[in-house]
Amino acid sequence: MSLVPIQRRRTVPVFVGGVCVGGDAPIVVQSMTNTDTADVAGTTAQVAELARAGSELVRITVNNEASARAVPAIREALERQGLEVPLIGDFHFNGHRLLTEYPDCAQALAKYRINPGNVGRGAKRDTQFAAMIETACRYERPVRIGVNQGSLDPELVARLMDENAGSAAPETADEVMREAMVRSALESAQQAEALGLGRDRILLSCKMSGVQELIAVYRSLASRCDYGLHLGLTEAGMGSKGIVASTAALAVLLQAGIGDTIRISLTPEPGESRTREVLVAQEILQTMGLRSFAPMVTACPGCGRTTSTYFQRLAKDIQDHLRARMPRWRDRYPGVESMRVAVMGCVVNGPGESKQADIGISLPGTGERPSAPVYADGEKVATLKGDRIAEGFTRLVDDYVRTRYSAQKVSPTTES
Ligand code: SF4
Repeated sequence: MSLVPIQRRRTVPVFVGGVCVGGDAPIVVQSMTNTDTADVAGTTAQVAELARAGSELVRITVNNEASARAVPAIREALERQGLEVPLIGDFHFNGHRLLTEYPDCAQALAKYRINPGNVGRGAKRDTQFAAMIETACRYERPVRIGVNQGSLDPELVARLMDENAGSAAPETADEVMREAMVRSALESAQQAEALGLGRDRILLSCKMSGVQELIAVYRSLASRCDYGLHLGLTEAGMGSKGIVASTAALAVLLQAGIGDTIRISLTPEPGESRTREVLVAQEILQTMGLRSFAPMVTACPGCGRTTSTYFQRLAKDIQDHLRARMPRWRDRYPGVESMRVAVMGCVVNGPGESKQADIGISLPGTGERPSAPVYADGEKVATLKGDRIAEGFTRLVDDYVRTRYSAQKVSPTTES
């Protein structure tokens, strides 16, 4: 897929470990664990799973002393596996204390997420916020000032409500709340800068759970600063609702050039892998033509012309096969992540769509001759028949990848 030249908003680049966020860097995919961080083995395993699925940054909760003690061990365990994925510590309420009392934790983390609504109340708020920023300065770590609708600073809200009540043209309560989100992020960022944290160490987010509210807040935020922005619809929910709501919100913002890193906050189904949020984030970016991660399969939905589930199974098997191959293909076959594969159910749109793809197959629909033409680069290259069409097509896809994307000559016998 050729990438679409969307005009990205200019932001100050921030390095999170070895990953650049903002500036001209590609939009970064991140995720968050749901393990008890004090469980070193469990958290390491989940971070590794997320990183291998393509998460370029992984956030972990650091909510108590046991989790702060575990962070360096998690970092070391990941490195023993050859995984350098930067870890982000998520701090609320006691972050100032944990970061100060556990310097190995502060050092092992590549970034700190600070929620200005959960730093402290009254006079303590400023000193506790300052303690976290001073730690960031000491260890030269960036911070994300992450405002969340569910934990918005009540003192700030009260102040803006009072100002609004005295205004000649008062805004609605919803408008004041949205302004409070933006102000909380911007005022905290200014405060961090005043404490000595560079602009190149600050990222912002203002997460909300409503699609239209999120879009409005980020548009306002983007127009008022050049900090890199982390996008995400908070508490998006489960299954298709969470995916659709996240996609609806993020697509509008990304299309407007807003957003330097994204996370999809899906609630997993019981027993479901946490990696789904990584896959969805990648698919949003790839289907929008913003980045490529893995070959994508174009498949028709099927209709009365396909009375068996054969082509559905083939489309799924091919998608699974491509994803399974990617860890080996990524370095060996540069460009393969942009490959388009078509699996079509009948002759109506099958040949046309298959010719548009890099490689595609048009399966026989009900009543059609039981043969499946395969097209590569717009030309018919084979016709598959019988009950081994799936195996034959998979082999042709592998051969196509080898010949089209090979950076160096690879013997077919060494490839698997
Ligand atoms: S390509 Fe054929 S099987 Fe697929 S949806 Fe179109 S008409 Fe139906």
